[in-house]
Amino acid sequence: MIQNKKHVIILGAGISGLTVSFFLNKFKIKNTIIEKDKLAGGLLKSFKIKDYTFDNFIHVSHAKNTFVKNFFKKSSNYINIKPKPNNLFGKIWIDHSSQFNLFPLPFIERIKIILSFLLRNKKKKYRLKNYENWLRGAYGNYFAKNFPMQYTEKYWATKAQKLDTSWIKFRMQEISFKDIFKGAFFKQYKNTFYSQKMRYPKKGGYESFLRILKKNNNIIYNSKLKKIDLIKKKIFLNNKIINYTNLVSTIPLTEFVNLTKFKDKKLINFKNQLRCTAGIIISIGLKVPLKLRTWFYIYNKDFKASRIYCPGKLAKDNCPKNKSSLQAEIFIDNKKKITPNLLQKFKKNTINKLVENKIIKEHDIDFVDTRYKKYANIIFDKNYKKSRDYIMNYYKRFDIDFIGRFGSWAYLWSDQCFMSGKVTAQKIYKKKLS
Ligand SMILES: Cc1cc2nc3c(=O)[nH]c(=O)nc-3n(C[C@H](O)[C@H](O)[C@H](O)COP(=O)(O)OP(=O)(O)OC[C@H]3O[C@@H](n4cnc5c(N)ncnc54)[C@H](O)[C@@H]3O)c2cc1C
Repeated sequence: MIQNKKHVIILGAGISGLTVSFFLNKFKIKNTIIEKDKLAGGLLKSFKIKDYTFDNFIHVSHAKNTFVKNFFKKSSNYINIKPKPNNLFGKIWIDHSSQFNLFPLPFIERIKIILSFLLRNKKKKYRLKNYENWLRGAYGNYFAKNFPMQYTEKYWATKAQKLDTSWIKFRMQEISFKDIFKGAFFKQYKNTFYSQKMRYPKKGGYESFLRILKKNNNIIYNSKLKKIDLIKKKIFLNNKIINYTNLVSTIPLTEFVNLTKFKDKKLINFKNQLRCTAGIIISIGLKVPLKLRTWFYIYNKDFKASRIYCPGKLAKDNCPKNKSSLQAEIFIDNKKKITPNLLQKFKKNTINKLVENKIIKEHDIDFVDTRYKKYANIIFDKNYKKSRDYIMNYYKRFDIDFIGRFGSWAYLWSDQCFMSGKVTAQKIYKKKLS
């Protein structure tokens, strides 16, 4: 009975918002998704160019939770991915993770790395100070400075010294003297990638994992959110006002703050301190097959892309027979102004460097597509926790559920977004109306 009186507004139709709605529908709770785009899926939308399928950045499912795994499986048949990525360092290819596979480097470089590893500062207090210290403490100064610190500036658009260490968890692999020595003097391959069981849909790109969730009639597409009145519980769109009883936000936290129009100086100040990378995605169709790993990382500063993957290696369906495709990912601070000129420069750099490094030949290119995504990775700098905590506390009295990668401003993968959506729907179902 009480349930019928609820009307939940969900901001955003990415995997997080779609999952909340899916489970609320199961509980027969009225809900509406407000989506600014003309399609659902958010970052997980795949796109087609000719007969080639691409995702927005490389996506593979790392899900460990059985419920999510089964849900994704019901949505799409999948392929198990066993990755063996490598790294481009100068002109040298090194298996991933580099610290375990230093053998291809010149002898003198290997000696420098090992010596500085032996002299590293192992004190826990030193390492926890910031990410740069963490790297120096884990690998020694020489490796830290020339490898992960270079990569950090590209991937996180921030110097390692400015990042905190909260996000590292399982993502960086520490190494023993025995392993660094073995990898430096014996040609061996030690797969240390943090995720060993990954899945990717057989057909249709990563978006196929959303097949069930996308069957949703509660979405208002092309919505322009003008204002959110948290006191009167009203959402103002360009052409209508909607009342709600419960609010779930999956849109970027920074944009949510703007929409509530509160003039609180501290709130605005903390919102301005939240940082995020934007991604430039360069998708390339090639008329010939390529011999490459599924993806590789690039340390080189003059090669702007951080990572490049081959969609056709994730699933054959992503690419026509006897052809191939690549997608390069470039990250910049999302407060940086993006101009068509800058996008053109990134595109040129990607093609030139791919050709220079003999990865592709220019005359084999069928097409190049460049797109920009304003929100990619939350930057975990020293202001992150304080700013996020302040904002979350500020809105506590309004009982809003902030979920998803940008809604909760956290490092969440798609399976974690799904779970946050499910848990939120269950919470709303159990909660009495105030
Ligand atoms: C580089 C990169 C690589 C990744 N790799 C993986 C991976 O390998 N595996 C994995 O599981 N995950 C990966 N992820 C993470 C994954 O993409 C996210 O966890 C997931 O897509 C986030 O879903 P979401 O619904 O929270 O947000 P989104 O997908 O961003 O959805 C938010 C929705 O809100 C809408 N919206 C925004 N503003 C407004 C507004 N003002 N009004 C109305 N609607 C609005 C958007 O259009 C969008 O549809 C990766 C992410 C990145 C950036």
